[in-house]
Amino acid sequence: MKIFDLHADLAMTIHKHRSEGTQAVLRNVWHDRFVQGEIYWTAAASFFRGEEDWEYMQNLVRMVQDDIRESGWKQILTKEDLNEEAEEPTAIMTIEGMCGIDKDGVQRVEWLYEAGNRIGSLCWNDENALATGNWGDPGRGLTAMGKDVVRKMNELHMIIDVSHANEKTFWDILETSDQPVIATHSNAKAKCFVERNLTDQQMRALAAKGGLIGMNACNSFIHRKEKKQDAAHLAKHARYIADLVGVEHVACGFDLGAYYSADEHHDLVSPDQAQNFIRGLEKEGFSEDEIKDIAYRNVFRFLRQYM
Ligand SMILES: [Zn+2]
Repeated sequence: MKIFDLHADLAMTIHKHRSEGTQAVLRNVWHDRFVQGEIYWTAAASFFRGEEDWEYMQNLVRMVQDDIRESGWKQILTKEDLNEEAEEPTAIMTIEGMCGIDKDGVQRVEWLYEAGNRIGSLCWNDENALATGNWGDPGRGLTAMGKDVVRKMNELHMIIDVSHANEKTFWDILETSDQPVIATHSNAKAKCFVERNLTDQQMRALAAKGGLIGMNACNSFIHRKEKKQDAAHLAKHARYIADLVGVEHVACGFDLGAYYSADEHHDLVSPDQAQNFIRGLEKEGFSEDEIKDIAYRNVFRFLRQYM
C-alpha cells in the first residue's frame, strides 16, 4: 500500500551525510528504503529547535532543495504535481519551527514559500517571535506577528502545521486561519497522555475545520509502556481518532527515528518498515478503502483542495 508521510526530518540526515561527504543523500542513502516501505510521497522537513537565526534557516532550506535536485526526486510544488500513480519517491518540503523569523514575518514566510516549502509550523517546542510551543509559557499563544504570518500562509496557500504548538497557540491558529490546518505528527492524548498528543476537544475542532492528523511513530507518543511502543499500537490511535472524528481526518506523519538516529528499536523506525503500520490498520478492522484513505488519499484530497 502506497503511503504519504506528512512528517520526516530529512534535513537532519541530509545535513549529516553531506557533511561527511555524501551528495544526493536522498538517492544514495534512502531511496531504496522508501521504495521498500512504499512511501512514495514524503515530507522533507527542515527542522529548527529555537535558537537558529534567519541565515541558518535559509541555508538549511537551500541544502534540502539541493539534495532533492541532485537526487533526481520529483517535488510537490503545485496541485499539478500531485500524482497518485507515482512509482518513485516524491518530496514535499516542509518547515518545522520558524524561530528564524524574528522580524519581517510576512516577507520571510514568503521567502520560505518561494523556496519550495508547502507546509510549515510556526514553532517547534520553543517559544519564538511568532508562536509558543509545548515547552513555552502555557498562557502565551500566537503573537501579533504570528497572526500576520498565519494570514500570509493562508494567502499563499501554504498549509499550517499545528504539531508542537501549545494549546493556546493551537486555539489561536484555529481562530485566525481561514483554512483548515494539519497536525502533521501528533497522536491522541486519550491513548497516550503526553503533551505532544492532542486532546479529544482539539481533534474535534481540527476535524470540524476540515483538518488532518498524521499518526506519529515516535515511541514515547505511542504508549507509555515500552512493550507497547510499536506499529500495532500506533494503529490503535488511528482507530480511536477515526471513531472520534471520522477516518477522513486520519493520515500518516511517522516522524521516523532513523532520520535523526533516534534510540528506538520497535518495528516502525525506518521507511522500509512502513508497511507494518498498514498491517496494524488491518488488525484494527479498517477496510481496504479506509486504509487507502489513511495511507495517502486523505492527504491528496486535502492538498488538492487547499494547496
Ligand atoms: Zn516534531
